[in-house]
Amino acid sequence: MTHRVTFIPGDGTGPEIAEATKRVLEATGVEFDWDFQDAGVDVYEEEGNPLPERTLASIREHGVAIKGPTTTPVGSGHRSINVALRKEFDLYACIRPCKAYEGVRTRFPETDIVIVRENTEDLYAGIEFERGSEEVERLRAFLADELHSPTREESGISVKPISVFGSERIVEAAFAYAKENGRRKITAAHKANIMKFSDGLFLEVARRVAERHPEIEFEDRIIDNLCNQLVSRPDEYDVVVLPNLYGDIVSDLGAGMVGGLGLAPGANIGTTGAIFEATHGSAPKYKGQNKVNPTALLLSGVLMLRHLGEADAADRMEHGVAEVIRKGEKVTYDLKPTRDDPTAVGTSEFADAVIEEMG
Ligand code: NAD
Repeated sequence: MTHRVTFIPGDGTGPEIAEATKRVLEATGVEFDWDFQDAGVDVYEEEGNPLPERTLASIREHGVAIKGPTTTPVGSGHRSINVALRKEFDLYACIRPCKAYEGVRTRFPETDIVIVRENTEDLYAGIEFERGSEEVERLRAFLADELHSPTREESGISVKPISVFGSERIVEAAFAYAKENGRRKITAAHKANIMKFSDGLFLEVARRVAERHPEIEFEDRIIDNLCNQLVSRPDEYDVVVLPNLYGDIVSDLGAGMVGGLGLAPGANIGTTGAIFEATHGSAPKYKGQNKVNPTALLLSGVLMLRHLGEADAADRMEHGVAEVIRKGEKVTYDLKPTRDDPTAVGTSEFADAVIEEMG
C-alpha cells in the first residue's frame, strides 16, 4: 500500500534533515507518495504567509504529515506555525519518546520513557491579564470581593483551565500508546495537593480512565517528586502523562537525559491529523552546512511508520539508527567525544550509514 503523506521540509537546517529522512524512509521499502509543501521563513519572505493555505489543505486531505523545523523570527508579524497547526488540527497530544541509545554520552543510560503531553489547555491556553489593565483590575476586584482572595497590586494573572474532556482524551491517548507499543505502566504527574481544582481534576479523571484499562499498571506522582525520581531512578518510569506546562518542561528534561535535542523525536496527534517532527528547532546557524544530526527527524519518521501500521519497517529503521549511534563512527559532530572531532560525518552521510545498517 502506498502512503500519501504531506512532507514539509521547513527552513534553516530543516531541508537537509528532511532530505536525509526521506531517503531513509524510502529505503525501508515502504511506498510513499510525498506531497511536498512549504512552511517557514522562506515562503514567508516570498508570499508573506509562513503557512500557506495549500499546506493546510494538503494535511487536511492526507491526515498525516512529517515536518522539518521552522524558524519563528522574534519580533516580526509572523505568527507561530506550530501554534497555527495545533489549532487547525486540534493536535491535543504531544508524544515524545526519550530513549537513551547505546553509544550516546548520557548520565542516564537506562532511560526509556515516553512523555505524553496535553497540548491545548492549562496555563498554555493563553488566558492572561496584563498588569495594570482594566481587565486585571476587574478580575482582582472579583477575587477580593467575591472569593476573599486578594492579590497584590501590580499583579499580572494567567489562568489555568483544565477540563474533564481535555484530561480524559490525553489520558486515553497515553493508554492507547502504551497498548500499541507494548508499554506496561502509566504515571500521571500533577500537583493536585496544591491545585486541587485543576491538577486535582486531571488526577481524578486519570484514575477513572485507568480503571477502564486494568491490564496496564497505573500510578501517579507529584510533579516535583517525579522530576527527582526521573533523574535518580529513570528505569522505574515508562509512559508519563502530564498537563501542558509540566509536559513541556519534562519533555526537555527527557531530551537532556537521552543525549540532547538532536536525538529527541516527537508526534503531535490530533482529532483531524497527525504531524511528526523533531523536538529541536531550525538551528539556522548551521544552515546549508550538511552538519546537524538528522536522528530526531529520523526517529519521528519511525513514529510515523508505526502510526501508519508499518511496524516492521519502523523496527528496522530504528535498529539502523541505533546501530549507527552504537558504533559511533559515522555520526555527526554532536555525537563525537568533542565537538571539533575531525571524524564527524555530515547529515547526509549519517543517513547513508543508517541505510547501510538496514541492509
Ligand atoms: P534549535 O533547536 O534550533 O537550536 C539550538 C542549538 O541546539 C543549536 O544551535 C545546535 O547547537 C543544537 N541543535 C539543534 N538541533 C540539532 C541537531 N539536529 N543536531 C545537532 N545539534 C542541534 O533552537 P533555537 O536556536 O532556540 O531555535 C531556532 C529557531 O527554531 C527559532 O526560530 C525557533 O522558534 C525555532 N523552533 C522551531 C521548532 C519547530 O519547528 N518545531 C521547535 C523549536 C524551535
